[in-house]
Amino acid sequence: MRSRTIAVLGGGVGGLTAANELRRRLPAAHRVVLVEKGAQHAFAPSFLWLMTGDREPNQICRPLAGLPRRGVELVQAEVLGIAPALRKVSTSAREIGYDYLIVALGADLAPDAIPGLAGAAHTFFTFEGAAKLRDALATFPGGCIAVVVSAMPYKCPGAPHEGAMLIAEHFRRRGLSDKVRIHLFTPETQPMPVAGPRLGEAVRGMLQSKGIEFHPLHKLSAVDAGTRKLTFDNGLQFGYDLLVAIPPHRAPKTVVEAGLTNQTGWVPVDPHTLAANQGGIYAIGDIAAIPLPGRWKPDVPLMLPKAGVFAHAQAIVVAENIAAEIAGRPSRAAFCGDGYCMLEAGGDRAGFAFGNFFAQPSPDVRLREIGKAWHLGKVLFEKWWLAPPGLRRTSIGWVMKAGARIYGIPMTL
Ligand SMILES: Cc1cc2nc3c(=O)[nH]c(=O)nc-3n(C[C@H](O)[C@H](O)[C@H](O)COP(=O)(O)OP(=O)(O)OC[C@H]3O[C@@H](n4cnc5c(N)ncnc54)[C@H](O)[C@@H]3O)c2cc1C
Repeated sequence: MRSRTIAVLGGGVGGLTAANELRRRLPAAHRVVLVEKGAQHAFAPSFLWLMTGDREPNQICRPLAGLPRRGVELVQAEVLGIAPALRKVSTSAREIGYDYLIVALGADLAPDAIPGLAGAAHTFFTFEGAAKLRDALATFPGGCIAVVVSAMPYKCPGAPHEGAMLIAEHFRRRGLSDKVRIHLFTPETQPMPVAGPRLGEAVRGMLQSKGIEFHPLHKLSAVDAGTRKLTFDNGLQFGYDLLVAIPPHRAPKTVVEAGLTNQTGWVPVDPHTLAANQGGIYAIGDIAAIPLPGRWKPDVPLMLPKAGVFAHAQAIVVAENIAAEIAGRPSRAAFCGDGYCMLEAGGDRAGFAFGNFFAQPSPDVRLREIGKAWHLGKVLFEKWWLAPPGLRRTSIGWVMKAGARIYGIPMTL
């Protein structure tokens, strides 16, 4: 049997899962090489709890070296180039030849894409940003907070709404609710439009119950940090005291330079197999552009949102299909578009949105009643995600599986 090399680029949600799932399925003769530039692996959903002071930085990240399964070759290096024609990747450590390539490099944040944004805004979309925002919230005396989704697409369609609600809850706990006004701006037509109108209405209700003013159809065009003013494409100017932004996202430069992206700026893939249109290459997670069947805005297809839950499920599909192909078995795994999200509402309560994003004519995503169980589910998921591979199959994993079964959630663990 010829030994194959599968190179996985990016050790975030998708890449780490793909590398571990490949290692679990493949005989030791085949190499699984995981390339990641960061030494720490942070759990992004917990950035929100870092921002509110409910987590310390060391509670939501782990040294990456402890997370891959034994037998995964971890290369701590930056990916500098991808040469699909030569089946080679160059990194800051060494060159890696591959038979299969899984690109899971995520999305870069690009605050520089909007004039004035970079120097003016806080963000809970990065580990460092969330830690800094925690300090800013702790000393904020009161006033107007603008939470702004600055451009589409962005990862985790629920996160801006959760962030706004957790900020509201933070000030309620401090007895400052009367002194703080929170406004949420977005270019979208409703909260989480890709998840359909029913979910949008439910999230709008959650925001209203927290006293958050929701402003759809506002696309940020500039920020003036001196006068603390936002300017939107529709001409509105808005004064703020504290600005919290979800910065624009873009694909990492190396992926664009390799010619893997299309006019969407992301890597087009088959929606079910995640195969890119170059031999042996797959793209999963935030880097992938997956059109939603039958849905257009007005002449551009709507894309599957960027979320860890999808990166995770896609990684398992790709690992299964590559392992099957190497073993000469028929490949049957297909990504089906199911997704879920525990939507933190503050006060240790969360909603749970679950459904199929490929459903036609519109996605069938529902919000289950807000309660403590969903918040607990998110906490358990955090513990499970950050556990070393050996521990995942013990107590936390079993509790998660039992919970998922009780609530009828087809969760892939
Ligand atoms: C605040 C917040 C809350 C969120 N909450 C949720 C949630 O509740 N549920 C959910 O499903 N999703 C959530 N998400 C989204 C989720 O985190 C992402 O969708 C998910 O991480 C995408 O996985 P990925 O593997 O595509 O990318 P990532 O996890 O971002 O991994 C990409 C990796 O590639 C590495 N990399 C990039 N460029 C290079 C390079 N040149 N060389 C080497 N390495 C490189 C990066 O360091 C990174 O580790 C949230 C995100 C944020 C910011």
